Parts: sequence; structure tokens; C-alpha cells
Amino acid sequence: MVNAGVFYHQDFASHGVVILKNRVEPGFLALNPLIEAGLLKVFTPRITSEVEELLVRTHFEDHIHDVKKIGYHEVALLSAAGVIQGAEKLASGELKFAFCFVGTAGHHANYHSSWGFCYYNDVAMAVARLNRIGIKRIMVIDIDPHFGDGTRDLLGNDPDLIHINFYAEPFYDITLYEEYNDLNLNQALQNLDVCISAAGDDLFLSCLTSSLQYNWDCEFVIVIFGHDSHSEDYGNFYLSDQAYPEMARQIKKFAAHKPVLFVLSGGSNPDVARRVIPPLIEVFLDNAPGSDEE
Ligand SMILES: [Zn+2]
Repeated sequence: MVNAGVFYHQDFASHGVVILKNRVEPGFLALNPLIEAGLLKVFTPRITSEVEELLVRTHFEDHIHDVKKIGYHEVALLSAAGVIQGAEKLASGELKFAFCFVGTAGHHANYHSSWGFCYYNDVAMAVARLNRIGIKRIMVIDIDPHFGDGTRDLLGNDPDLIHINFYAEPFYDITLYEEYNDLNLNQALQNLDVCISAAGDDLFLSCLTSSLQYNWDCEFVIVIFGHDSHSEDYGNFYLSDQAYPEMARQIKKFAAHKPVLFVLSGGSNPDVARRVIPPLIEVFLDNAPGSDEE
């Protein structure tokens, strides 16, 4: 039985935000061998009334109005719909692993506003959906090299949620977040920020190992995956192709048999998408060449 899924809509490539959209179709087409081998099932996201309702619960109406005005409402909502529907299929047990392509990103979107190719916070909307069906102890690991400020704003005070946030040097006011860091590291150890500017494979992977070593209590793992962390992409990490399957193995080991949802974030280089996404996904597939399932 296929228990891994990929969520993809052709509008992500045609109507997505300019800097991000060119990598979407190449990344998806590179999965064809896995799909044809029957290891990965493809799902097409749909905007439903529930998705619309999660949007107005997550974002202020003026922000939604602004996104409509600039023409990204449909594709941003469709992107969030894929993440929400991926989360639902993991929660129901239909899938064990899901990878969601998107046309816009989400982690810089807060209640009132957004920036950096993000419009609607897809992960915050999926967390709201999971909470509603009784899944509350969620870990969000953001390995995009830009600080997930929108996600921290929306989810940082949720006592049941853990937010591990990797980033390179800040170009916003970090003092805004110190309060969260002190509070959470000293009291609840609920959120962890890992600033590793210009990190290569060794530093990134060793920091990932140490950040997963805490005795985190969670039942569901969400990974915000930006391949702008690659040395040939635009973010300020300098990872090689080899870092991605190793990152996936660490997360798979940490998650044990808990559901894992990967959500695409930053990244613009089609070659990077084509090279790094399939090996990463293979790690999570039963009986695939890259799987280390015992
Ligand atoms: Zn990024």
C-alpha cells in the first residue's frame, strides 16, 4: 500500500510568485520515477469551504484583501489547501509521509501582513486544522535559511507546539524575538532558534542533530523546507546535494513512526529542486533505494 503522497497543482508553476515558481514543475517532474514505480501517490489540492474558513481564522481581512488586489489570493490559498489536505491524510493514517509543493511560501506571513514571497501561512492553517481534529502536540522544524517570523508570530505562544527555527543572519529586528527565546528556552523549552549564518553541510547537520536531541514531546512533525539553503540557490546557507538526504534521515529517525509533512518554502533554482527533492523523499519511502527502513 502506498503511504507516501505528494501534493501538486499545475497552477503553482503557472501562477506562483515569480521568484519561486520556476522550480516547481522541474522538482515535481523529477519525481516521475518514484510515482511510476508506485511508491508515491499524487494528490491535487482543492479549495474547500473549510480551507476558506481556516484562512479567515488565520489572517486579518485587510491582509486577505491586499493579497487579492495583487493577484496571489487563489494560488496562495491553493498552496495552503495542499498543506491542509496533506495534514488531514497524515492525521487519518492514510499517509505516513507527505511532500507539498506550493506556488507561494508561508513562513513570513503573520496575522496582519506578509513579505518575502509569502502571502498565507500554510503551516499555521494546517496546524489549526490538526488542532481541530485533536492533534495538538506538533513540532514545526523550519530549515529555510530565513527566519520564520510569521510562523513564530502565529504559533510561538502555543504551549503544545514546538517551533525549531534555523536561519542565517537576520535582516529584521531580532530584539523582537528575544522575549520569546528567553521565555521559551528558560521555561517551557518550546521554541528553539538556531542562527548559523553561511552554514555548510557539517555545521547545519550537527546543529540539526543537537536540536533534535532535546526530549521533545510531539505526535506530528512538520518540516518547512526551503532549498534556498543550497549553495547554488539564494539563501545564506551553503549546503551541498548530500546534506538533504542526511537531513531527511535525521528527521525520519527523530519522528520514528509519527507522521511527517514536508512543506516547500524558499528556493528558485530548478536544477537544485530537481536534484535535491527526490533523494530527500526517497528516505521516507518504504522499499525505495534511499530508504533505511529496518
Ligand atoms: Zn528562505
